[in-house]
Amino acid sequence: MALAQFESAADLLSLDPNLRLRLMAPKRSIMVSIPVRMDDGHVEIFSGYRVHHDNTLGPSKGGIRYHPEVSLGEVAALAMWMTWKCALMGLPFGGAKGGVNCDPSRLSRNELQRLTRRYTTEIVQFIGPEIDIPAPDVGTNDQVMAWMMDTYSQIKGYAVPGMVTGKPVVIGGSLGRTEATGRGVVACIVEALKDQGTTLAGKRAVVQGFGNVGANVARFLFEQGAQVIAVSDVRSGVYNAVGLDIPALLQHVAETRFVAGFKHGEAITNADLLLLPCDLLIPAALAGQITEENAPHLACAMLVEAANGPTTPAADQILNARGIFIIPDVLANAGGVVVSYFEWVQDLQQFFWKEKEINEKLCTLMVEAYQTVRDTARSNQIPMRQAALMLAIRKIAQAQLARGLFP
Ligand code: NAD
Repeated sequence: MALAQFESAADLLSLDPNLRLRLMAPKRSIMVSIPVRMDDGHVEIFSGYRVHHDNTLGPSKGGIRYHPEVSLGEVAALAMWMTWKCALMGLPFGGAKGGVNCDPSRLSRNELQRLTRRYTTEIVQFIGPEIDIPAPDVGTNDQVMAWMMDTYSQIKGYAVPGMVTGKPVVIGGSLGRTEATGRGVVACIVEALKDQGTTLAGKRAVVQGFGNVGANVARFLFEQGAQVIAVSDVRSGVYNAVGLDIPALLQHVAETRFVAGFKHGEAITNADLLLLPCDLLIPAALAGQITEENAPHLACAMLVEAANGPTTPAADQILNARGIFIIPDVLANAGGVVVSYFEWVQDLQQFFWKEKEINEKLCTLMVEAYQTVRDTARSNQIPMRQAALMLAIRKIAQAQLARGLFP
């Protein structure tokens, strides 16, 4: 998917064939095996990955995923998308991604900690504030980042907060980072609606995934007057035609971990949820959810890709032909890496900003990026995804040309 999207944007740019080849392959791919002593005493081996797609503009940046389907190919695709996202947002970073093939819901806290510390040790030469800076993604959170930061700092002999972002505020995390991706998604939606002469008030939204990104998107939409009519997690979804009470649902999930069983809504499957008639459909879980099979039946006016890669290239074509407006992942979910950038800058300067300042700077960057992509899409009469990728790829290509090919 990542390569197909890249090639389509590269064609539009008439990209130099040498640059095209250089950008298609990751700069560096690391595979490690991670032995972990489980609580019952036996040892299990997990597969871990870290891929640096590109570092032309600065250290590479990207999340760490803990999920049973993590593979080298998936991590490499996600790393490529990070390159485009950082370039589009004007950040001095390249793209990277990492992951461990595991099911974190089946690991105890101690097992998760040992796995994280050993994974960090295995990739330690390839990460650092000037090399490559991890962050949370699916299945990881601020606690996992804190263990990574501690492991790295123990090896160095001094605290190195700038080696990861998305860590707890008490050890150098940034205010506003946890909500940043969701806040950025909603900033893009508000801007898109403004272009259509309307606002969030009364808009019906459907959110797939109720983790860090999905739950925050739902909360911000609810707070700004939209009706969030359905949300789901890995197990199932809940639906309420007049809008879910999101604060009550957050409380329910805090108590039971899942959305299932929420009293003020009916059960709905993940497959049916995607087909609900709505103004805003927001996939915020995994890749490949919107496919050739379900794309003809989607009943949303706007698709906002909070997740990375939720729409397959075949589905993308169908939705474009159907006139469904898509805010692509590299733009919609860039708020996370933007505030990660702010966190890294604060750590390096050892000077911390107020939350209001962080949120305002985030929204300014999101709105500017949205407008640039929209203007490029309009002037070239192409979809927003191609416009975003064209802008990003052109920037990296120009930087590679300026630096030249070593040796
Ligand atoms: P998370 O682990 O906090 O939450 C993932 C959610 O998706 C959970 O509610 C989980 O139950 C649900 N889920 C998993 N498999 C599912 C399935 N098959 N069907 C429906 N729901 C499913 O992860 P997150 O950090 O919220 O990330 C979600 C997406 O957003 C990912 O695609 C990630 O790459 C992307 N993203 C995250 C960030 C970030 O800052 N965390 C930034 C940019 C993009």
